Amino acid sequence: MSYVITLIPGDGIGPEVASAAVRVLTATGIGFEWDVEPAGASALAEHGSVLPPRTVESVRRNKVALKGPTGTPVGTGHRSVNVELRKTLDLFANLRPVKTLPGVESRFDGVDIVVVRENTESLYSGLEHVVVPGVVESIKIITEKASTRIARFAFEYSRTHGRKRVTSIHKANIMKLSDGLFLDCARKMAVGFPEVAYDEMIVDNACMQLVLDPTRFDVLLLENLYGDIVSDLCAGLIGGLGLAPGANIGETVAVFEAVHGSAPDIAGRNLANPIALILSTALMLDHLGEQGAADRVRVAVRSVLAEGRKLTRDLGGSAGTTEIAEAIAARV
Ligand code: NAD
Repeated sequence: MSYVITLIPGDGIGPEVASAAVRVLTATGIGFEWDVEPAGASALAEHGSVLPPRTVESVRRNKVALKGPTGTPVGTGHRSVNVELRKTLDLFANLRPVKTLPGVESRFDGVDIVVVRENTESLYSGLEHVVVPGVVESIKIITEKASTRIARFAFEYSRTHGRKRVTSIHKANIMKLSDGLFLDCARKMAVGFPEVAYDEMIVDNACMQLVLDPTRFDVLLLENLYGDIVSDLCAGLIGGLGLAPGANIGETVAVFEAVHGSAPDIAGRNLANPIALILSTALMLDHLGEQGAADRVRVAVRSVLAEGRKLTRDLGGSAGTTEIAEAIAARV
């Protein structure tokens, strides 16, 4: 049996890290058929859209996708492919586990945090307009439905994975209605999960506490914008964006992608660290029920890092993207 998976290489370093991830998945011995689809700035010229309908249809059909990063212009230009994809396919939960890896120099040991980010609303609703010249309005949408759904996801994930505590990160002291509603939904959900402790922290304090002592945190529950920012912060705690995997999960469809972006500064030079996307494939294997293969991928990554002979430039080494992929594939 083989799995048909949509593969979206994306922009910048996307194609490089995507082929590294495919190399490692091939080494697991599991059969994969790749339905390669365009998205991002690179899709615009050839397909007239940054997110062609055929790509969305492919993910809907195959139910699982592996995605490289896609670029979004700052200030002007097209909307984010990621926001579009997550909203169109209702990929409501963004799961980003952040765990200390052996052999990687970082400020802390023993970091083991899971970021659960609401993925469909808040300020990412894209509702912005000019009220009068010189005044713009950006609308933050928080709904009971989406907040309850993401809170349920965080608590169910915690129960299933033996996590001890969910911390809601918010700014309800200022946004009393919107973040207040988010907290209210989390509090109600917490009642149904007495085995998981629940607490709350204001986002600015949470950022400080995270960089002072990240080991005191377990599962973080955040609305969209705070989740985006805090997950990059958490990636920094374990050695950087080249190591942080992620998953976008909906009721029936899931898209696996690293936390990092298209890194145009290093694109096309075989410099990108593929480990973040390779660890995202382990999340994909978990999702497919291929637990044994998922564990083998994680063990292979840890073993290559622990040995310290093959590291990309971001980790102080000089190995290329392809070399790292080969080294990991050889140990899977
Ligand atoms: P970025 O994550 O692309 O890069 C930030 C820094 O981290 C850069 O110095 C980059 O070289 C480095 N870096 C990132 N990934 C790395 C890797 N795998 N190995 C080694 N170094 C790595 O963030 P940015 O520069 O702010 O954004 C660039 C573009 O990516 C923007 O257009 C943004 O919209 C897009 N983006 C896409 C996604 C996604 O598709 N999921 C996520 C974030 C940003």
